[in-house]
Amino acid sequence: MRGDPNENGAVVVAGTEVLAVGDFKKIKRDFSINNFDVVDLGDGLIVPGWVNAHTHLEFSDIQEPLGFPGIKFTDWIRKIVEQRFQSNSSEPDTDSASKKSLAIKRGLVESRQAGTQAIGEIATSPLDINDYTGADSRIVTRCFFEQLGRDPLNYPNQASELTSFLSQNHRMFYPGASPHAPYSVSAPLFQQIQTISQSAATPVAMHIAETLEERELLEKASGDFVDLLTEFGIWNPHDFTGQLNILGILHELSKAEHALIVHGNYLNEMELDFIASHPKSMSIAFCPRTHRYFKHAHYPLQKMLDRKINICLGTDSRASNPDLDIFKEAQEVASSFPNLPPVEILKMATVNGRQALGLPSSIGTISANQSASLNFITPSESLQPNHPTDWMFAQTSQCTPIL
Ligand SMILES: [Zn+2]
Repeated sequence: MRGDPNENGAVVVAGTEVLAVGDFKKIKRDFSINNFDVVDLGDGLIVPGWVNAHTHLEFSDIQEPLGFPGIKFTDWIRKIVEQRFQSNSSEPDTDSASKKSLAIKRGLVESRQAGTQAIGEIATSPLDINDYTGADSRIVTRCFFEQLGRDPLNYPNQASELTSFLSQNHRMFYPGASPHAPYSVSAPLFQQIQTISQSAATPVAMHIAETLEERELLEKASGDFVDLLTEFGIWNPHDFTGQLNILGILHELSKAEHALIVHGNYLNEMELDFIASHPKSMSIAFCPRTHRYFKHAHYPLQKMLDRKINICLGTDSRASNPDLDIFKEAQEVASSFPNLPPVEILKMATVNGRQALGLPSSIGTISANQSASLNFITPSESLQPNHPTDWMFAQTSQCTPIL
């Protein structure tokens, strides 16, 4: 990730730590190689573990995406709410918190098996950091504590809960805050979250411009979301009379050291320009297969890349995606954007995610004296490995986590 690929490369690993990376012959000279077991992996690419920049692991026990491809987004939200209600009531001997813990642990195991080394997780209250930091967990988590609600005055504990969450510190667990989305967070609550997360200097993530209906709500106070919010008993037309608009929200988020815009499917030119004018702090998480599931308009990836916006990849949850496999997201990008150099996609799946989440710089790279997370990508037999990066995310390529 820090230069050209090493042909006939080697990685020296002791336990779970990388000691050296580079050309095999040079490494053979520099190290007394006889003290090491040498494993020849054959033709393929050794790449860093993936960074999955957008997950909701509490839905990892869902067997298949809710609804059907092309489902209306507001109908899908109704299904999510239904699902939560069912999972809270179906097994009376298991309380909802422990069901959630199990789903999160299952999601971590699945992520690890898919070669992921770090995640950008959105988590809801009640939130137990032990779910993420168990002794066997090798996944680094940036955990954005999700906040939603219309009037913060009705939830006096929300602010103190967020403040104490953001003060936590752990080697594998980094806190952050997430105002959920413009349709689910009131202007006063959004301000409250901003104030708290800015004073704690933590990253923020927010679902923004995910649907056209969201834009309609914010711009005209009409559309599908009005029905949904009315059903939930929280519709108030005064909430959407220009208090929150996407550019204003982006403006506020840009004050954070790291602000992750999740989806951004329908950002307009002016909003993209604004994000591009904050290259160090603002990033966008693209969730390619979730995007396809909802049959959104073609993703404005090229417009984002033309503006040099930092783009990373996420799976989103199993409520809109069949699994938590970032390699498959990268393959989806490669097939939807065939002109995009695979190396760019590799960055989106690794270092760009690390930057977006504000995680240590060794993540998403293979670096000496750092903890190792390695994947091995092999071509199908019909593809010649002469130009390694060309076939990296071909539909027939395979990815196997090796460490
Ligand atoms: Zn999401």
